[in-house]
Amino acid sequence: MVSNFDLIVIGAGSGGLAAAKRAARYGANVAIIEGDQIGGTCVIRGCVPKKLMVYAANERNNMINSEGNGLNFNNIFFDSSTLLKTIKKEVKRLSDLHYDSLRKLDIKVFRGWGRFKDSNKVEIVCPKTSNLLKTLTSKKILIAVGGKPKSLDIVGSELALSSNEIFELKTFPKSILIVGGGYIACEFACILNNLGTKVTQLVRSNQLLNGFDSDLSFSLKESMLSSGVNLIFNDELVSISKDNQNFDLIFKSGFSKKEESVLIASGREPNLKNLNLASLSLNMKGSYIEVDESNQTNQSGVFAIGDVIDKPNLTPVAIEQGRVFSDNYFDKQKRSINYEFIPKAVFTNPEISSVGLSEDEAINIYSNKNIKVFKCSFTPMSNTFKKNKTKCMLKLIVNKSDDKVLGCHMFGESASEIIQMVSIAMNKGVTKKEFDETMALHPTISEEFVTMY
Ligand code: FAD
Repeated sequence: MVSNFDLIVIGAGSGGLAAAKRAARYGANVAIIEGDQIGGTCVIRGCVPKKLMVYAANERNNMINSEGNGLNFNNIFFDSSTLLKTIKKEVKRLSDLHYDSLRKLDIKVFRGWGRFKDSNKVEIVCPKTSNLLKTLTSKKILIAVGGKPKSLDIVGSELALSSNEIFELKTFPKSILIVGGGYIACEFACILNNLGTKVTQLVRSNQLLNGFDSDLSFSLKESMLSSGVNLIFNDELVSISKDNQNFDLIFKSGFSKKEESVLIASGREPNLKNLNLASLSLNMKGSYIEVDESNQTNQSGVFAIGDVIDKPNLTPVAIEQGRVFSDNYFDKQKRSINYEFIPKAVFTNPEISSVGLSEDEAINIYSNKNIKVFKCSFTPMSNTFKKNKTKCMLKLIVNKSDDKVLGCHMFGESASEIIQMVSIAMNKGVTKKEFDETMALHPTISEEFVTMY
């Protein structure tokens, strides 16, 4: 049976849900297809369950470090199965909420994998039997199928966990090797370390978080080392095998290790495998779908948003792309997306957060002599009585010619909350002088941003 719609969205994640809901609010007849749980990576196996783990991990870490405050938690008992179960419950609640709001907006939800028959037709395939369930047609089809973890091309890689499976665990392991130096690897290293797992993190290059300001990478490295993470740089995993209990892990350097678990977090790629894109001859940009500024592919009527296109792969970006798509195509608006000052965060302990250019990026664009760098690092008051006296780091990069702030970076408690607010000012072209003219709020960490000279 064939059904016709004004819009078919493939993928009910951050971007797809936002586009479908916005288009339905304008009165469009919308279908959304999802092969897994409603909510996508962010809700089911990304931002949300991860942040809930971060809160638990930070709480335990604060307790362990609190002797100087007169608090003694000698026998802290952490039951990872309780945490993992309660997170699952919360994730289900959020997924159900999304489902309810789709129904309230009269959006037709189809369960199964969507695959193209041609540029106007999508077939829905049963995830269990691979049988064809239905065919939908529309003049507008939006690809919003997100990304998936990349595996490593090494012996035994199928034995390792990815960031998908880590959310399916019943309990956390006693020891783990985490492969990767990106934000997901660093976040899980901090979460598990702070919850009592013995963590080794293996990084192929010589630093964490490529693409972030190097002072942030350095501060995080120091802090992770002092909190007990075993960081190994300039080496690679070459094979994984398993005996009864443990994984045998062999590195390129010849070094070998036994761990209870291994997580490969070495990047993500678009999840295009079920779509039958061969039927469309879409132009690609590397592994991403190529789109123009209105998210249109080279096939008329086929659009793509979120982690399948070559833009920052973040939830708010996917949501904005989805909303702008529907505003433009179902409400005749002429909106575009401002990709310039996208704040980003790494939810380690403490956090990293940034908006604008790193020092290296600013030097590349403006040259060393045309920028000014303001930086400070100190032990925050909250760590005064703690065993672990991790320092925070704040940094501003300023254009000498017009005094505009080009980059703002922070490593420290609540960095993400602070940088979210700074990004409003950065979007409006704030200058260093305007930072300096702003009254400090004392005693805080972020007051240093308005008193740096
Ligand atoms: P997704 O949210 O991935 O949704 C795609 C949906 O499409 C999925 O539900 C999938 O099942 C479905 N699908 C796939 N193929 C088909 C098909 N053929 N038919 C039907 N359905 C299909 N971002 C942040 O901003 N902040 C964070 O703190 C953060 N933390 C993260 C932590 C982790 C561990 C991970 C993995 C990601 C994190 N992200 C974070 C990134 C963020 O989750 C993604 O950028 C965002 O979810 C992308 O949205 P999307 O709509 O493109 O895709």
